[in-house]
Amino acid sequence: MPHAIRFHKTGGPEVLQWEEVAIGDPGPGEVRLDQKAAGLNYLDTYHRSGLYAMPLPSGVGMEGSAVVEAVGVGVTEFKVGDRVAYANGPIGSYSEKKIHPADRLVKLPDAISFEQGASMMLQGLTVRYLLRSLLLVPKSGDTVLVHAAAGGIGLIACQWAKALGINVIGTVSSEEKAKLAKEHGCTHTINYTTEDFHARVMEITGGKKVPIVYDSIGKDTWVKSLDCLQVRGLMVSFGNASGPVDGVNLGILAAKGSLSVVRPTLASFTAKREELVNGAKELFEHVIAGRIKVEPRQQYALKDAAQAHRDIEARKTTGSTILVP
Ligand code: NDP
Repeated sequence: MPHAIRFHKTGGPEVLQWEEVAIGDPGPGEVRLDQKAAGLNYLDTYHRSGLYAMPLPSGVGMEGSAVVEAVGVGVTEFKVGDRVAYANGPIGSYSEKKIHPADRLVKLPDAISFEQGASMMLQGLTVRYLLRSLLLVPKSGDTVLVHAAAGGIGLIACQWAKALGINVIGTVSSEEKAKLAKEHGCTHTINYTTEDFHARVMEITGGKKVPIVYDSIGKDTWVKSLDCLQVRGLMVSFGNASGPVDGVNLGILAAKGSLSVVRPTLASFTAKREELVNGAKELFEHVIAGRIKVEPRQQYALKDAAQAHRDIEARKTTGSTILVP
């Protein structure tokens, strides 16, 4: 029997269990995957902790790369032996085998390894919509603020922004992370554990502030992030690494200069098959051309997923991380 990481109650990393799972044949429109790698995403910790409620018991993980092992009735786009990757669809990528809807898969180009595929699908497609698909997007020459610039999303965002001519002010929690972010194209770094990031943004921009802030930290950075925005600027609040932002009085947006806020999720930007396929195509083109370099910076055995969760929550990881069956 194949194994998977599952949890029966929400809580800390210790609730993650390595269990035998019954994986049957794919139904109509589905494929069975022989999983090669799963991506570790901060999002997975929200599912495990209960911040994002899931029916229990539950699998974990939204992202992976795999080989198609069996196809169900009506699947025409994929055949046995195809190399594929995915970034959403039913939860449970921390698994040796998986049933997955065929219309949520993309083919992995030969030039992209399984390890790279699992390192970039979810984070890369997220960066794509953040920089390219929101109602307000930065243009070449703009300067934006990106929190956690040395994280999985962060390193891809720095590189993609650079490819588009956008300057990034990136926050990080250590000098090592600052160096890494800069090596990936971040224009300016701020250590937000030792420096006041709002004061530094004012200094770096000569008091002009920025038109867009990408904030995945949430609770700890919300107010100061708003202070970094120009009049009519956009706050992109897309994560909760320090806890969720709640109890917001909308008047704060008026007081700070007619600001807008968006709270987007990847699923809304890949819901249509063509959005998923076109997004992945654009991401893969950047990677194959060398404009965006993505390699896993940490790798764990799949059964050690609990340790991977401890490490990402303790801010010990940088860039992308994969779990390998
Ligand atoms: P990261 O690799 O960026 O890890 C999270 C980082 O957040 C840490 O490395 C750390 O960087 C920073 N951080 C700041 N405060 C804390 C804290 N209190 N506890 C832990 N970490 C903290 O993760 P991902 O790249 O997987 O995801 C980044 C963010 O993007 C997450 O918030 C995630 O939820 C969000 N996301 C949102 C999506 C969407 O569509 N809405 C899709 C994908 C991700 P440092 O040490 O430098 O501060």
